[in-house]
Amino acid sequence: VKLKPTLKCILSFVAYYSGIEFLLVKLLPLNAAAIIMYHGVCEHSKLPPEVDFHLTPEDFERQLRFLTRRYRAVRLSELLAKLRTGARLNKEVVLTFDDGYRNNLTCAAPILARHHSPFSVFITTDYIGSDEWLPLNQLYGLWSAGKIPANEVVQLRNQLRTRSRQEASELICRLGAGVRAAQLPDDDSFAMLSWEQVKELARQGGEIGSHTQTHCCMTAEPANRRRDELEGSKEAIEARLGNAVTLFAYPYGKTPYIDPAFGLLVRECGYQCAITTEQGLVTPRSDPFRLPRMGYHKSIYMFAGEMLRFHLRTMWNQAFVTTIPGSSI
Ligand SMILES: [Zn+2]
Repeated sequence: VKLKPTLKCILSFVAYYSGIEFLLVKLLPLNAAAIIMYHGVCEHSKLPPEVDFHLTPEDFERQLRFLTRRYRAVRLSELLAKLRTGARLNKEVVLTFDDGYRNNLTCAAPILARHHSPFSVFITTDYIGSDEWLPLNQLYGLWSAGKIPANEVVQLRNQLRTRSRQEASELICRLGAGVRAAQLPDDDSFAMLSWEQVKELARQGGEIGSHTQTHCCMTAEPANRRRDELEGSKEAIEARLGNAVTLFAYPYGKTPYIDPAFGLLVRECGYQCAITTEQGLVTPRSDPFRLPRMGYHKSIYMFAGEMLRFHLRTMWNQAFVTTIPGSSI
C-alpha cells in the first residue's frame, strides 16, 4: 500500500533532478493549460501543518521559477478568451489566489513582480477590510493558540464546511472564538486585505474575482442567499474597482459542493467563468464554469512530477480517447 506513493516520489525525484522532466515538458506539445491554486505566502504560518495552505516566500519563489521556465504565465482572462474562440492552448499557466489574504499583497506580489507573472485574486468580499477572519481560520486560530486539541480540528473543520453560514457562526461562537487579529498583531496567516490593498493589487496587474461574500457552504444556503452571495460580491468589487467583474472561484470547490445548477447560477449572475478545486489541466473542451486547477506540492520535485503526470495523461487522452457526442467519459 505504501509502495505507490514511494515509487511516485522516487520517479519524481529522478525525473526532476536528472533534467528528464524539464526536457519532456519543453519538447512534448500540450494542448492544455494549468491553473495553479494558491492561497497565500507568509513567513511563519499559524496553520496546522496538515491543512497548511500557505507557502514560505522561498518555496513560492522556487515554484514560480519552476513554472515560468516551463510554461507561459498568462492572465485568467487571456486563457478564457482562448477557450471562447476555440484556439489551441499551449502550456499556459495561470496563478490564482483564493480568499483574499493580506499576505497576497505584502508577500506574494513582490515575488510575482520579480518574475513578471500576472495573477488573479479571488476575494471573500464581506471579510475585506474587516479584522475578522474566515470561519475556518477562526478555528485554525484557536488551534494555534492552543485552545482546541489537534485531534478535534479535522472533525470541527468538516462541520464548518458543510453547515449554513448561520450554523457555522453559531458553532464558532460556542467554541469561544476570542482569538482575533487583535490578539495576534504580527500574524500574516489569517489577516484579510483591505479594499485599499485590493486596489493596490489591481494596480499591480492582479485580476480581481469573486469568491462569494462570506465563503459559506453554498449548498447549505437557500436559493435567495446563494444569489445574494454571487451578485452582492460582484457588485461590491465593481463599486470599488470601477470595472466589470467576470471571474469567480467556488468556495469548497468540488463535488458535492458544486454541481451544474450552481454553474448555471454563476453564469446567470453575470460571470464568465468559474474555477473549482478539482484537480486537472484545462483543455479546449473544458467547461468555463467548471475549470479544474492544479494544487501544488511544497516539494518542488513532487510538484514537477505531478505536473508531468497530468501533462502525459492529457496528451494520451487527447490522442487516444475520443468522446462520442452526448456521452461523458
Ligand atoms: Zn476559499
